[in-house]
Amino acid sequence: MSKVINALNCKCPNCKKGKIFIKGGHLLLFKIPKMHNRCPECHYKFERETGFFFGAMFVSYALAAAQMIASLVIFWYFIDLSPLNVYLIICGIAFLLSTFNFKLSRTIWIYMFHSDKH
Ligand SMILES: [Zn+2]
Repeated sequence: MSKVINALNCKCPNCKKGKIFIKGGHLLLFKIPKMHNRCPECHYKFERETGFFFGAMFVSYALAAAQMIASLVIFWYFIDLSPLNVYLIICGIAFLLSTFNFKLSRTIWIYMFHSDKH
């Protein structure tokens, strides 16, 4: 469980202290969050090889799809909005969560390939 909390806080999987990202990025300026190459605390290398984060796109896709389905169920079935409103809300949510998804997907990807034995 602590692993999940560390991942949500974008902390290094190795020492659980260092931050993975330098800055959060800026949604309205379309700034992508910047990453540290290595953990500032324990020097664990986040990008294991060139193109390592290519796979994080699939994690990001899964996160976005799950969020869209969740919003569809909430706004369509429970709040009973019109299809156009539901569509606009889903687009808004996908946009608002894009930076969050970017960070979380990379963090999840790093955690997936990290093992505690070194
Ligand atoms: Zn570390």
